[in-house]
Amino acid sequence: MPLTPEQQAEIDELRASPRPTLRAVSEGMEGHLYRAHPVLDHGLVRVIDYMGDDGAITQAARVSYGRGTKSVSNDEGLIRYLMRHWHSTPFEMCEVKFHVKLPVFVARQWIRHRTANVNEYSARYSILDREFYIPAPEHLAAQSTVNNQGRGQVLEGDEAARVLDILREDAMRSYDHYEAMLSQEGQQGLARELARMNLPANVYTQWYWKVDLHNLFHFLRLRADAHAQYEIRTYAETMCGIVKDWVPFAYAAFEDYRLGGMQLSARGVEALKRRLAGETVTQENSGMSKGEWREFEAAWG
Ligand SMILES: Cc1cc2nc3c(=O)[nH]c(=O)nc-3n(C[C@H](O)[C@H](O)[C@H](O)COP(=O)(O)OP(=O)(O)OC[C@H]3O[C@@H](n4cnc5c(N)ncnc54)[C@H](O)[C@@H]3O)c2cc1C
Repeated sequence: MPLTPEQQAEIDELRASPRPTLRAVSEGMEGHLYRAHPVLDHGLVRVIDYMGDDGAITQAARVSYGRGTKSVSNDEGLIRYLMRHWHSTPFEMCEVKFHVKLPVFVARQWIRHRTANVNEYSARYSILDREFYIPAPEHLAAQSTVNNQGRGQVLEGDEAARVLDILREDAMRSYDHYEAMLSQEGQQGLARELARMNLPANVYTQWYWKVDLHNLFHFLRLRADAHAQYEIRTYAETMCGIVKDWVPFAYAAFEDYRLGGMQLSARGVEALKRRLAGETVTQENSGMSKGEWREFEAAWG
């Protein structure tokens, strides 16, 4: 269950008592505030707080560039200009704080993004819930034969059932042992900080994650990408939907220049120019390595 009844009651109470404010408000984000978006089987993403909107980005840009920004008259155009030219600091004026519930192996990938502020549920202090991520059948795939860091064909039939049984059994057995170590009738039991060490990496943890919009876009570009593992990607995609409603101009520029756009090396630009001029360019005469050429061909045909 993504949310406990107590957490749901807290959300209902918070949403039932809105307060007036003089601060900038994003109507789109107000709709998300406190609401839990379910992710995976027991996970969630919800917005706890935010600061700023599209206007905060252009306001900061106009302070820093003054007259220079007059040439870009509207907010949308200015935001696109800033994104196009990698002027990142105006995007740092917006902040968001998420509550995320996620399996530990996803948290390990996520925590590599160092430019956020994090507070995690303490398994030294509290007892972890009996909640483990078990992939849905369509995400239970074999090791890819072409990509060492990826999945191949989806498992089916007996093979899928065998793997699911192992995952469930291991999770339940290790949780039973966790509980047994914590308390034994008439005995003191093992400290929570030690008993947790036999739990598998698909056990769920939770944290508050606060980040500015520039660094959030960096996270989303890497983790909403097809190269990212499905489990973290599904969190990133949920967050993309939230950011789109929060700062629609900034998100549209991000989608255009970062998610949908692509970078070219100087050699790539040269190869493209020569091709457009009618020349036959091959890997051998492009100056690119085989790997670079493969990626270039995949992108440009
Ligand atoms: C598809 C994929 C596969 C990956 N595979 C692996 C893997 O196999 N093994 C592995 O270990 N990691 C792996 N990673 C993690 C990856 O190497 C990065 O650690 C992670 O994506 C965080 O990126 P970041 O450092 O740019 O982000 P952040 O930590 O948020 O930093 C943002 C930017 O701030 C700057 N910055 C932050 N801290 C510092 C610092 N201390 N010094 C200098 N500049 C800093 C950098 O410019 C950085 O790009 C993978 C990531 C992805 C997306």
